[in-house]
Parts: sequence; C-alpha cells; structure tokens
Amino acid sequence: MTQHNGSQSTQKNINSLVEVAQNAQNKRMSNNVEMPAVSDDQQALHMEEHAVADIYKARKERHERILRESVPLFIRNKDRILADKKMARCHIDGIRFGLAYSGEWKMPEAFLGGLFCLWENPRFQAECPECHGTAYCTGGGGSPFSGRKSIAMTCGSCGHRFGVPSTKVDMNAISFGNALVSAIRNCNAGLGDMEDESLPIEDVVHMLELEEFNADG
Ligand SMILES: [Zn+2]
Repeated sequence: MTQHNGSQSTQKNINSLVEVAQNAQNKRMSNNVEMPAVSDDQQALHMEEHAVADIYKARKERHERILRESVPLFIRNKDRILADKKMARCHIDGIRFGLAYSGEWKMPEAFLGGLFCLWENPRFQAECPECHGTAYCTGGGGSPFSGRKSIAMTCGSCGHRFGVPSTKVDMNAISFGNALVSAIRNCNAGLGDMEDESLPIEDVVHMLELEEFNADG
C-alpha cells in the first residue's frame, strides 16, 4: 500500500521534473531576463533529490515486507543458505526498530546468515499463537517512557505474523533495541564484509522458491 503510494509519488516527481525542464526551455526561448529567486537548475536538483529519496524509501519498505514474509522459507533453507557465501551475506536492511517521540533507530545491516544466530537467542523468539511453533523477531518498537514495546514476529513454521509485547526473556523497550543492535553486529562476525560479493534478498528468495518448486515436482 505505502509502496504503491511511493511509486505514485515518484511518478509525480518525475512529471514535475519534466515540467521544470520544459519551463526552463520555454523561458530561454522567450528571452525573459527576469531573475527568479530559485533557479531552474536548483529546482531540478531539488526534484531529483525527492525522487531518489522516494525510490530508496519504497525499496526499504519492500525489503521489510520480503523479510517478514520469507522467515519460513529461510528457516527451511538454513543449511542451504549457510553453505552459499553469497546467499549467507545477503544484506538484510528490513529490520526496523523505533521508539515513540524519538523516531526510528538507524539499525545496522544484518547478513542473512547472521539472522540464524540472532534467532537462536530466546530474546528474539516467541511462541506462535496459531501453531505453537517458534516465531522469530524481525523488528519492533516501543515507548521510552513506559518501557512498553511491541516486537514484530513471524512464525518459522506457518508464517503467521504478529506483534508481541514481550519475549521469553523480557526487557524494556530501550534495552530490547540495544540488545537487537548488538546481536546483529555480533552475528555478522565471521561472515565477511558488507562489500564482499552477495546476492540481493529479491534474488535469494526467488532462487530458493524455484529450488523448492523443482524439488516438489
Ligand atoms: Zn505458526
């Protein structure tokens, strides 16, 4: 939904860019010597920056959605992913954590291979209310004043997505956010550098789905 709005607003920005460029052209042709407060080039730059920001926002939202939807696929293919360095190093930038009034935290990027280590920690697990399987944390948020929090969970067995106010090991919202940040950093260790060759999450998900589809056939 938000992603759709993002694309619409990107299209709007692109239309506005075209308009700015046409106006600049028309003005040059009419020999208008008046000096505007903001130049057409400045306006073009401004529009471009908004368009680029919209694209990155839409991508981030897509990555967050893919992560939440793909937990069971990743759990089923844990050994497969860990055996393939490019898959294990897939960058996970869809984990989000925010606190009311102070906004979203800048979370470190995780490696997909590192998520399995993160999810072994009971702090980042909950029981699925649908199938009683284990669900895994994909982000969360809370209040810095009351300490209350809501943690985003996806069941590794049935894929049910839900929010929980606490985990097996309870902590207040700020401690939980800090624990999540340091767990991501620790779990990335040993998998390589962010600059090393890796596959995007879109490719990893499609490859695993194709492999499962072919194995079923
Ligand atoms: Zn479940």
